[in-house]
Amino acid sequence: MEQFTVQIKPLTPLWTGDANKKCCTLRETGIIGSLRWWYEALIRGLGGSACDPTNSKCNGKVHCDACELFGCTGWARKFKLEVEIDDEAKNICEIKIGTREKRKVKEEYKYLLRKTRGIMFKSASLKFLPLREISEGEWNLLNKTLYIISNYGALGASTSQGNGVISITNNNLPHSQSLIPIDQSQKVQELPKLNDFFFYKFNIEFNKNILKLINNEVFWTHSQDHKGYNEDWRSWEDAWERYDFFPIAFHIRDLIRHLESNKEKRHEIFGEAGRGSTVFVSHGYKISEKTVEVRIYGYDKGNIGNKIKDELENNVKDKLFSSSRNSSYLNKCFLICNKNGKNLLEELI
Ligand SMILES: [Zn+2]
Repeated sequence: MEQFTVQIKPLTPLWTGDANKKCCTLRETGIIGSLRWWYEALIRGLGGSACDPTNSKCNGKVHCDACELFGCTGWARKFKLEVEIDDEAKNICEIKIGTREKRKVKEEYKYLLRKTRGIMFKSASLKFLPLREISEGEWNLLNKTLYIISNYGALGASTSQGNGVISITNNNLPHSQSLIPIDQSQKVQELPKLNDFFFYKFNIEFNKNILKLINNEVFWTHSQDHKGYNEDWRSWEDAWERYDFFPIAFHIRDLIRHLESNKEKRHEIFGEAGRGSTVFVSHGYKISEKTVEVRIYGYDKGNIGNKIKDELENNVKDKLFSSSRNSSYLNKCFLICNKNGKNLLEELI
């Protein structure tokens, strides 16, 4: 069977929501679900139709542009995806970050642990095996979807909590500049669409090597009165030394969460149990011994994108370090990429 391959390298751990947490694999369904999510956002941005797959009326006869490629009841997906990890994948050491405040659990307030998890490896192949004809326009959209993911977004699950930043090291999907067959008569729904997105990349630069700062235990891990918390700097060291990532997605989420003071709106933007986040934050990935890059992106509700930008540039030190005394280790945090979905669409077409 003809096959086309995209080679990826993770920059932060990948997570595909595996039920078996010890299993070092990437589940195809998790990758497809994520590809589809971005493909839908792109299609909606172009004025096409993409249903909500959790509440879809699409069927074999009548379906949206996303279902045309990814399938729905009565209409099979046009390709099969096989994922092959080219070397040994490893579960990263779980890194536990306490909550800043006590949270209510069964009538009791206590600190909780948030865990950084996922798998890392050097390289994996995503093999696309067409089962039916995929049009040039669909290949074009798929390539653009991968471009957005690898340059500005993330792949897989748990992408609002640090996981899934990848780079694409090789892509031999059919490339074409053919026009994308979008039926613009469809009414665009209230679902994520690329025009509404903001995409930021920040560089966080310290004035000492990050490894040294980890060894000096200067970063924030838990509240002082969080009883029973066990420090585990080895897992931080492991993440940085072996995998070139720096586990600060929860620190950054803690920084930006309070930007929306209305509780209902905050849950809408940043998610809560059972509801996904509309803002996504990556862990830091290595730029140099002293510098990491962080991606923050999402679809804007109430100008949250601009507030996030200001907060990162000015106040990230407040949440990164265990005490204000240590905040002098931060040299600067600066924006190196600021793109909105409209710019990105113009760039892509
Ligand atoms: Zn559909």
